Amino acid sequence: MALLASTVHAERRERARELGARYDFAEGPLRLYLAVVDAQERAFERALADGPGAEEIAAYAVRVALPGVMEAAVAAGTETLREAVLLRFAEGDLEGIVEAWLRGEQQGGTDTFLARAAAAPVLEALPEVAAALRSAESDDRRCPRCGGLPQLAFFPDTGEALLTGQRTLVCSRCAGEWVLSRMTCASCGETAGAKMPILSDVDHFPHVRIDACEICRRYLLTIDLRKDPRAVPLVDELVALPLDLAAAERGYSKISRNLMGF
Ligand SMILES: [Zn+2]
Ligand SMILES: [Zn+2]
Repeated sequence: MALLASTVHAERRERARELGARYDFAEGPLRLYLAVVDAQERAFERALADGPGAEEIAAYAVRVALPGVMEAAVAAGTETLREAVLLRFAEGDLEGIVEAWLRGEQQGGTDTFLARAAAAPVLEALPEVAAALRSAESDDRRCPRCGGLPQLAFFPDTGEALLTGQRTLVCSRCAGEWVLSRMTCASCGETAGAKMPILSDVDHFPHVRIDACEICRRYLLTIDLRKDPRAVPLVDELVALPLDLAAAERGYSKISRNLMGF
C-alpha cells in the first residue's frame, strides 16, 4: 500500500514537471501544484498510518494536512493567494472551511483551495472514510464511493489500437473512478449526441478535449491516454487552461472546478 501511494504521487510530480517544460503558460500553477503535491503525499501516508475515523476527518485534515498545504501556498503561490492564506491562518475557521467543502458547499476560491488540497489526499487514502460522505440520493453521474461530482473523464490506454477502453470519470473529492457511457452527459444525463458538442485544440492539446452539453451548459475535460500514454489525467486537466477559456467563451461552465480554481 505504501509503495502504491508513493507511486501515485511520484507519477503526478513527474508529469507536472514534464508539462511545465511543455507549456509556458502553466509554469506558475504547476510550481504551486508541485509544492502542494509534496504536502499531499505526506498527508496521504500519514492518513494510511493513522487511520482516522469519518467523524473526525475535518479536524484531522486541518491538523495533519493543512499546515503543509499552507506552507506550499505561501512558498509557491501568487502574491494574492499568499496574502489570503496568511489571513486564513491568522483568523480563519479552518475546520469549518474543510467541513463545508466536505459537504459540497460553495465557498470562495482560497477556502476551496485550502480545504480541497488538505482533505482530498486523506479521502483518497481512506476509501471507507470517503464513503461516509455519500448521501442517499445519488445517480450514475456521481462518484459511487463518496457522491462527489466528476472532475474529468479519461479514456484508458488499452494498448491495442482496435480496443477502445470505457470512458472513466474521476471524482473531484476522493479521486475515485467509475465508468459512464461516453454518450451520456456527466452533468445532466442527456443522451442525445447532437446536443453534446466536442471542442478541441489539436495543435496544443492533441490528447485533451472538451465534452460539453447544450442542455445543461456544463462541460468537463476528457483526457485520452491512447493519444498520450504518459498523461496523468488529474495533472493534465490542470494545465488545459486554454480549453477552459474556450469553453467559457461559449458559455459553458465546468461541472467541477479543479484544484487551481479553473
Ligand atoms: Zn468520490
Ligand atoms: Zn448536460
